[in-house]
Amino acid sequence: MIYNLHTHTVRCNHAVGEDREYVENAIKAGISVLGFSDHCPQFFPDTDYYSYFRMRPELAEDYVNSVRQLQKEYASDIKILLGFETEYYPKTYRRFMEFIKPLELDYLIMGQHFIGNEYDQNSYYSAYENRDELFVKRYVDQVIEGIDKGVFTYIAHPDIVNYKGNVDYYNKQMAKLCKYAKKLKIPLEYNILGYVNKKCYPNPLFWKIASEVGNRVVLGFDAHNPKALLRMDIYEECQNELALYGIEPVDFKDVIIRNPIDKNV
Ligand SMILES: [Zn+2]
Ligand SMILES: [Zn+2]
Repeated sequence: MIYNLHTHTVRCNHAVGEDREYVENAIKAGISVLGFSDHCPQFFPDTDYYSYFRMRPELAEDYVNSVRQLQKEYASDIKILLGFETEYYPKTYRRFMEFIKPLELDYLIMGQHFIGNEYDQNSYYSAYENRDELFVKRYVDQVIEGIDKGVFTYIAHPDIVNYKGNVDYYNKQMAKLCKYAKKLKIPLEYNILGYVNKKCYPNPLFWKIASEVGNRVVLGFDAHNPKALLRMDIYEECQNELALYGIEPVDFKDVIIRNPIDKNV
């Protein structure tokens, strides 16, 4: 059974297509569960900083209504879930949880695109190449702190941190992340978009460690275009890549969908 919990919409300002096209293409491709997880708005205090690569807060209602409507309409063809891909920022976490609570989402995935809180000093884009040990350590510590909140269903592109320094140090840090995720039964995502676009992830070093640790792994299209969901050939290529590490993605029934609303802020 094929499922994909990583789907964006046009509202994040860097994806295309109608919500409906994502659903119809998923059905065409034989996908049984489609989760929408567009980039969640973030709220930065005392600053003019605004991030344009994610949904504006005022669009959230339309997003929720649209996905819930499609869920009803296509109920006999496909299971649709409503979620967000979001950062874990310690300084704005409370505000973020207050925002999502009334939206009654089904799930959240964590995509840690920034180390730090994004808007403040000492924050870094995770995918910028960096050789500083502290860079990878801070990423891992922040992801682990996020996992601990218990609200995230899985970690999107856990290997986004683009550390190019000492390999032993990288391995040690990532083993820490993988072991923690395993302990809490949080799957790690092999990101198909990263594979297609030859980004710094998927990182072979990381998947070797995940294989040794024995993590639960999911495949995520990270679709920013409805057409991406039709590429079952690429999906299979990614499955084959994982098989080289002896990794088989988990069944959907083994993905624990964590409802973020059940958790206290
Ligand atoms: Zn992402
Ligand atoms: Zn994404």
